[in-house]
Amino acid sequence: MGGLFFSTLLVLLFILFVYLGEQRMQDSLRSQAAVLTHSLESTLVRSVQDVHGRMRIQARRLAERESLASNPAEMSDQLINLVQAVPQLREMAVLNAQGQVLATSGSAPLMQDQSEEMNTCLEWFQAGQVIAVGRPLPGRSMSQPQSPGGLYHIPLCVPVTPGNLDTTLWVVAVLNPDALREQFYPVVHNLKAEAALYRYDGLPLVRLPESTRVESEDEASGYTALLEQRDWGVIEERRDGITWVTGYRSTSMYPLLLTVSIDQAAALSRWHETIRGISWAVALALLIIVVAVVIMSWLKVRQGKLLAELKLLSAAISTTANAVLITDTQGRIQWVNHAFTKMMDYKPDEVVGFTPALLNSGEHSKLFFQHLWRTILEGQVWRGEVVNLNRARQRLVVEQTITPILGDKGEVTHFVAVQEDITARKQAEEQSKFLSTHDPLTGLANRRALAHKLQQVLQELHSIEVALLYIDLDNFKAVNDTLGHGKGDQLLQIAVQRLKHSLPEAVFISRLGGDEFALVLGEKGAREQALVLAQRTCELLSESFELQGARFQLTASIGISMADSGTDPQTLLRQADLAMYRAKNAGRGTFRVFSSDMDIQAQHRVSLEQGLRKEVESGFASLEMRYQPIYDARTLRPVGAEVLMRWCGADGEWVSPAEFIPVAEDSGLIVDIGAWQLKQVMKQLADWSAVADDGFYLSLNISAVQLARDNVANRLLEMLEAYGLGRDRVVVEITETTLMGVTPRVEENLAVLEASGVRLSIDDFGTGYSSLGYLRELDASYLKIDRSFIIGIGNRDSDEEIVLAMLALAKSLGMKVVAEGVDSDEQLQFLRQNGCDLIQGFLLAKPMTVTEINQLILTK
Ligand code: C2E
Ligand code: CA
Ligand code: CA
Repeated sequence: MGGLFFSTLLVLLFILFVYLGEQRMQDSLRSQAAVLTHSLESTLVRSVQDVHGRMRIQARRLAERESLASNPAEMSDQLINLVQAVPQLREMAVLNAQGQVLATSGSAPLMQDQSEEMNTCLEWFQAGQVIAVGRPLPGRSMSQPQSPGGLYHIPLCVPVTPGNLDTTLWVVAVLNPDALREQFYPVVHNLKAEAALYRYDGLPLVRLPESTRVESEDEASGYTALLEQRDWGVIEERRDGITWVTGYRSTSMYPLLLTVSIDQAAALSRWHETIRGISWAVALALLIIVVAVVIMSWLKVRQGKLLAELKLLSAAISTTANAVLITDTQGRIQWVNHAFTKMMDYKPDEVVGFTPALLNSGEHSKLFFQHLWRTILEGQVWRGEVVNLNRARQRLVVEQTITPILGDKGEVTHFVAVQEDITARKQAEEQSKFLSTHDPLTGLANRRALAHKLQQVLQELHSIEVALLYIDLDNFKAVNDTLGHGKGDQLLQIAVQRLKHSLPEAVFISRLGGDEFALVLGEKGAREQALVLAQRTCELLSESFELQGARFQLTASIGISMADSGTDPQTLLRQADLAMYRAKNAGRGTFRVFSSDMDIQAQHRVSLEQGLRKEVESGFASLEMRYQPIYDARTLRPVGAEVLMRWCGADGEWVSPAEFIPVAEDSGLIVDIGAWQLKQVMKQLADWSAVADDGFYLSLNISAVQLARDNVANRLLEMLEAYGLGRDRVVVEITETTLMGVTPRVEENLAVLEASGVRLSIDDFGTGYSSLGYLRELDASYLKIDRSFIIGIGNRDSDEEIVLAMLALAKSLGMKVVAEGVDSDEQLQFLRQNGCDLIQGFLLAKPMTVTEINQLILTK
């Protein structure tokens, strides 16, 4: 806008300047013309006056002495003298009234005829005039009338009347136009002007430069017309396509008119050149202004756009969710956005001017920051996690990206740091990382971490020994079931604390889940130490626990495996597991070291399971029932029989139920087998009831697995109903250990049986740790003393006492006692004497086939 105004002003000023300048130049040109005319006039007048003066001298001579007129020689001398040293005068002559030459300064012979000069003088001469100016005549002078190259002369005439003569004589002077020109020349030449001399009537006399124009008399008449108003002036005229500034002036004494014409264009050419120059300059200035204005407005538009972009950008940055801070190259904070102040709890003016060291948590090494600075000073982006402290000195983990901002020359001018608060994510990550490798309850390493640890130590097997201890708490399930899971968890935590405090630091402790733990020992001599460690662990865990005022005793079974070259973690674990089972089988609370035969047994178990599975699929073709009679201790008459399963394996060998029943339980096949068995038993009982109905019963072993997974109780009742059998025809044997891990399902089954009137028998009594309270509550009818106690009768006093205590206990609970595995008279006598109710054992009868037991029943 300013540019446009300025350029318009410039143009106007320039026009004004040109206009005024032109006016001034024109004025000065006019006055110049006037001055020139004036000065030329005075030169001319002086010249003519000089000539006129000489003519008057001659005229006076003629007037004073009449005789002179008749003395041409004297007159000629006088005239020659007068002509000398006057360049504007070529010749002087005296003529008579007839125009005949009486004397001349020239060399030409006197002519008798009237001279042409005379004619022209007379033509113009008027009375009262001091001088007459004749028409220009060809030739150098009167006496030299030849005119080479247009040579001419101008005659001037003055009349003389000598006193006593009544005739008129004429003194004639021949003016040299070239001399006049020479006088004009210096004035005219410099200005490239033209000058002209006219007779008063407009007759051209002298012209400078010569032959500049073909003269017409009308031209001059213009000036003579002007002279009527004023005898000098300046006019502007156009001639030959040129504008002339012409000054004109008449001489007051002589009938002469002088003009000086200045070529206006030529005279003003310098001025016009200057104007042109200035015009160019102005045009250039205008162009520059216009270009500048265009550039400026373009820049302005661009700047506007940039500003708008910048505004948008800064608005976006200030409202972005990520914290943004901008520092200078020294790291001093220049600007922070809203998210930063919110995240760090600092106001902008509390951090601006400070370095981010204000936020330093001290958790990073010097090297860390050195690397960071090196990266960004090299103009590269740095990305990483930084731990900062906010105003309240709270720890914040941020993911930070620092981008160097480069200047025009590629130099770093600022740094922009964008920070994202990942504290929560980090914590969650750490938590999940911890959880992925740790057990949440005890904080111990978990199964995965164990695998990792094993992997790691097994790689160093060339320099160390590796031992793995697999720990399983005995009967922990019972603890859980009786005390509740909360207590069970507490007990586990206490147990873990014990291990952590008492075991050497080098021992890696992990929890595999439930009540299973693993210890890893990876160092020189680990094989030997493993046994010590196992012993120590057994001791530690068997020490009593105190939980809410009550005391508990736990034991652990431990399997130990030692790594050989090429052992992988899975194998090591499996081997330790097998060894642990061995320890459990060996009576719990002890440890076993894995040996290769355990592996063979394990494989055997696997093939057994496959065989049993086939058995189930093929309709139990190779399973048979045996019946071992149970005798009344007093009468020694059979009152019932225990149903014992027999399996003829794939190779035709009889497989012991002690061997295959645990496999059937572990694989869950026992449920199908049990259901099948139940049917067989019902059929058998139905057969017998046709023969004799005197309360002969069958005692059925029902596994804990069946009680836990199957609604075996209802199934049994339904079948008794279906076969029309009384509920007193079956006794259900459940092991004491079953009672140690009672689940709701087991409880439900037992409750159904109890309520139905089907008798319960506690099998293998003395091998578990069943609570007496539960036993009383259960209302079982029989208690079967385990064979291991019966064997001791007659051999070990302690066992006899235990048997007596059991008999007393059973009595006090209102239960009958069955002694199983009685195979000597001594045992039989002892039991009979001490009030044992029922006897089962090889001494009286081995398990029998159906045919055999039929025989027995019929003959009893
Ligand atoms: P159990 O319930 O304790 O059965 C008694 C075991 O003692 C039987 O072994 C029986 O043959 C054996 N026995 C009885 N009297 C004597 C004796 O005087 N001397 C010796 N040395 N042994 C005697 P069996 O038949 O080998 O059964 C072993 C175990 O397998 C049983 O122990 C029982 O727990 C389980 N079992 C057998 N059949 C079944 C079944 O049909 N169902 C379930 N769930 N378990 C069964
Ligand atoms: Ca039994
Ligand atoms: Ca038993």
